[in-house]
Amino acid sequence: MDTDVLVVGAGPTGLMLANQLVRRGVRVAVVDRHAGPSLKTRALGVQARTLEIYAQLDIVERALELGKIGTGANLWAQGRKMARVPLGEAGRGATPYPFILILGQDDNERIMGDKLRDLGVSVQWSTELVGLQQHADKVTATLRGPDGTSRTIQAAWVGGCDGAHSSVRELNGIAFPGAPYEHVFYVADTEVTGSMVPDEVNVYLWRAGFHLLFPMRSKDHWRIVGILPPTLRADRDVRIDHVIPSLRREAGAGLDIKACTWFSTYRIHHRCAARFRDRRCFLLGDAAHIHSPVGAQGMNTGLQDAYNLAWKLALVVRNRAQVALLDSYEDERMPVARRLLNTTDRAFRLVVSDSWLAGLLRTQVLARIAAFAMRREAIQRFAFRTVSQIGIHYRASALAQSQPDVPDSAPRAGDRFPWLRLKLNANGPVEDLFQKLDDTHFNLIAIGQPTHGALGLGDLCPIHTIPPDPTNDAELARAQIPNPSFYLLRPDGHVGLCGVRLDAAAVERYVANRLHLRNETHLFGWARELG
Ligand SMILES: Cc1cc2nc3c(=O)[nH]c(=O)nc-3n(C[C@H](O)[C@H](O)[C@H](O)COP(=O)(O)OP(=O)(O)OC[C@H]3O[C@@H](n4cnc5c(N)ncnc54)[C@H](O)[C@@H]3O)c2cc1C
Repeated sequence: MDTDVLVVGAGPTGLMLANQLVRRGVRVAVVDRHAGPSLKTRALGVQARTLEIYAQLDIVERALELGKIGTGANLWAQGRKMARVPLGEAGRGATPYPFILILGQDDNERIMGDKLRDLGVSVQWSTELVGLQQHADKVTATLRGPDGTSRTIQAAWVGGCDGAHSSVRELNGIAFPGAPYEHVFYVADTEVTGSMVPDEVNVYLWRAGFHLLFPMRSKDHWRIVGILPPTLRADRDVRIDHVIPSLRREAGAGLDIKACTWFSTYRIHHRCAARFRDRRCFLLGDAAHIHSPVGAQGMNTGLQDAYNLAWKLALVVRNRAQVALLDSYEDERMPVARRLLNTTDRAFRLVVSDSWLAGLLRTQVLARIAAFAMRREAIQRFAFRTVSQIGIHYRASALAQSQPDVPDSAPRAGDRFPWLRLKLNANGPVEDLFQKLDDTHFNLIAIGQPTHGALGLGDLCPIHTIPPDPTNDAELARAQIPNPSFYLLRPDGHVGLCGVRLDAAAVERYVANRLHLRNETHLFGWARELG
């Protein structure tokens, strides 16, 4: 076998998958048909859940250094500011990163590419996947190299991270149903002054569409994203000058565009692959699902597909888990993609519909409802959890098991375990639990009960025992975590098994029957090898 996993595509999804596999001891080969890293910004919004994953990968500081923190979004209609969504306040206490980070896709790719190189793997550029043959125990891939000649390699598995026109998807004959939107987007990098609230996202809703202005790092630098006015849609040669009148109409006559360094138009589709896996090939990111950029979810969803698959594939490649564990990838990620497709589609249709009624709804009703809703803390928090992707859960997954004694109000199996700051030692300081979790291991959190010897795990699956303490009690109560209780976390930070009383037999059953580990000790043996 030439490699354990062939990763096709070195966009954000492929780079995340490769990084996560390599740090779990898996051999990967990463190929991309482009000659080098993309210089196009494309996605701009990095969500809190992605930043939490970046922290585990040790690249979050670099991302924060290069990006700009967006603490709020302002909604404008008919020249008036109608509402402000205070991202910072809405997310406070829910994540170490209560904001959206404005950081171009090219920078995200650079940071992940650098990390991958540090781990000893380089992308093979100008190398295109042109053929695939699946066998019972491997995949034979045909690659066309920089000099135009073809070679074949044998890989145990293939990660199809090759974007909307995925060859992995097409070579496996997987359908990609959906449709294009009739609207044409434009994107412009500008130096501009105007009514925008500085350092925050500004959304201008108007009768025939919307304009989004994202603050970039340097002074007066804004990325403008919008849809072309209907009269320009058929025009093949649209320039920034053509959209300035509609921009001024909605964002105010005072809008002064001093420079435009990049202007481009593009059409978008909404589609979801019929399957995310065909035997030894997986689809991730845009290869599996594409949707409107409303909500800045696309790149983030691909990154989380990779984070979901990597730990499972690593266990299987290392012969610790049975192949059945891999079924949970599609079971968990397809509903997330479908939900996202539905919500972004509905939101998108509302903000772009050409109908007179929708125009009225957008500028009169929507903005007022948003203004009203955003004054309610609970709605703000719900909106933040949704957009930041920290609210994504896999409660319906076969890997999720909540014991019957867990109250409904508590975090449950399948949820991302909440961010807590706790005293992990009776007389120690308050610490960030996320910084203590090691995502190359399973982690056991035991609250209000001893664990010594209970599972015979030693330090192979890190055990975090939360001692009794008034600070801890208050923090646990805030997160509605029962005391006593226990939570067995999967490497990706989602709860696998939880209950009130830690029961070694229940853990053993869970590990064998739900995780499909070949033998429960392997879970911890695997951790030891990597530790
Ligand atoms: C203008 C615009 C704005 C956007 N804004 C946002 C946003 O704000 N937030 C957000 O989250 N998302 C946004 N998106 C979506 C985001 O860009 C995509 O979701 C993201 O690029 C998907 O990453 P990916 O790695 O899955 O695919 P891609 O980035 O498309 O990467 C696929 C890679 O595979 C390679 N490849 C393809 N075929 C082959 C082959 N046969 N062999 C070898 N290599 C191959 C390609 O060269 C490419 O490098 C935006 C998209 C656009 C167009």
